[in-house]
Amino acid sequence: MTPEQPAVRGVTRAQTYRELRDAAGVFTSGLRERGVGRGDRIVLIAPTVPEFAQAYVGALAGGVVVVPVNTMATAHEIGYIVRDSGATLLLAWHGCDTSARTAGEWSDLPGWTFDETTVDGARDASGLPPEAMTGDETAVLLYTSGTTGKPKGVRLTGDNLLTAAQIVVERVEITRDDRLGTALPLFHVFGQAVCLNAALVAGAPISLLSPFTGEAMLDLIRRDRLTVVSGVPTMWNAMLHAGGEYGPEDFRELRVATSGGAALPAEVLRAFAEKFGCTILEGYGLTETTALATFNQLDREQRAGTVGVPMPGIEVRVCDERDVDLPVGEVGELLVRGFSVMAGYWNRPEADAKDLAGGWFHTGDLGRLDEDGYLTIVDRVKDLIIRGGYNVYPREVEEVLYEHPDVVEVAVIGIPDDRYGEEVAAVIALRPGSDLDTTELRLWAKERLSAYKVPHEVRFVDSLPKGGTGKIQKRALDWSTLATNVRR
Ligand code: AMP
Repeated sequence: MTPEQPAVRGVTRAQTYRELRDAAGVFTSGLRERGVGRGDRIVLIAPTVPEFAQAYVGALAGGVVVVPVNTMATAHEIGYIVRDSGATLLLAWHGCDTSARTAGEWSDLPGWTFDETTVDGARDASGLPPEAMTGDETAVLLYTSGTTGKPKGVRLTGDNLLTAAQIVVERVEITRDDRLGTALPLFHVFGQAVCLNAALVAGAPISLLSPFTGEAMLDLIRRDRLTVVSGVPTMWNAMLHAGGEYGPEDFRELRVATSGGAALPAEVLRAFAEKFGCTILEGYGLTETTALATFNQLDREQRAGTVGVPMPGIEVRVCDERDVDLPVGEVGELLVRGFSVMAGYWNRPEADAKDLAGGWFHTGDLGRLDEDGYLTIVDRVKDLIIRGGYNVYPREVEEVLYEHPDVVEVAVIGIPDDRYGEEVAAVIALRPGSDLDTTELRLWAKERLSAYKVPHEVRFVDSLPKGGTGKIQKRALDWSTLATNVRR
């Protein structure tokens, strides 16, 4: 990369590669001064701003393991990740640390709050990717519930990150003359591995937006004449319905628009092409596969409704529950193998043994392949709810609701929602005689969970359907016919 080439652009600030390198160095040496060294974990909480990139690159360059956490996480949720990862420092963007710090049990964790001025006058150059991302040691821990249970730290190595970024650069044909842009959260693998790291590896500038609105993203595409833009389906949908005067001329330079993270509705794809003259290319991946598995690639025919074909160096199988391959066209669980698959979960040998059995990552997603190797995602085996691009793990919400003394049984499910794709809903059986209502229940959840995880709708029932083992059977729940909630 050329040092004076723009690297990271925020809404109001821009930074060259030289400045990013210098700024990252402030974090590398600052962490060292605070006694944080190679292999130590730090929690990083920051929105999609250029300074995230500085702190991230600086930590990676020092061999420090970055544990990025959702900026909307509650103290309770951060506390869990701090304990589970054994993090020794909380590196927080100003404003993100106050709410995080209210929890008593880990409030003595050393902190470092940073803002736009933290790196003023930086002259302490250090490595940038690819130098910052190499080797088979854990580079980042990204927390996700995966197929089951409580959030687990996905261990991605420097090699995972670097190879994934290089493949994106190669497949999307990104050069230094491109201008990338995204509003995706950088704590999530899609924003981090596919957008930020790919830009850094290519030496191209990336424009970052926070917070996202359809209008603001369209303004950014127009202002920075973006050529490669990535987002989740709800973002494309919001841009489609944004007010203001936007049209194909704003997208003249946009070469590639990529969508992933959740199913892209066919109607959004069609309407977007019609309004803006631009095709959105859909891909599929998970945190455990460094965001990469399949993609509708530029040099292949693009098939709407599919998530394309496996990326180079990645194999995908469709299997039955005994890991036996199913014939073309049949629906089964997707198994993935290749350079992008994680090294394993952090301190979870049983989960590794199960999810990585036979050297293949078991995605928990259901899909089918056609004769040409194009993949269609059919459903999720797991019950992950994706609300507006954010993952909501029903089990986590259920655990919080179960903590309420009046709640006897609960199932949290996703219900279709025009705005967010899916909305969180809870079906609850109460203790006899309880007069708990939706308002009180939501308040209870709100005190313990990020707002987006709080059930939007609640139905009260006498009991929940169960299978032979006594497990609640969510699939037997039919939201539309459930008794309407009489206790609003
Ligand atoms: P995460 O680990 O947060 O990236 O979430 C991964 C999950 O997102 C996958 O297991 C899928 O269920 C879902 N997902 C990702 N991309 C797509 C897609 N293109 N279509 C449907 N679901 C997707």
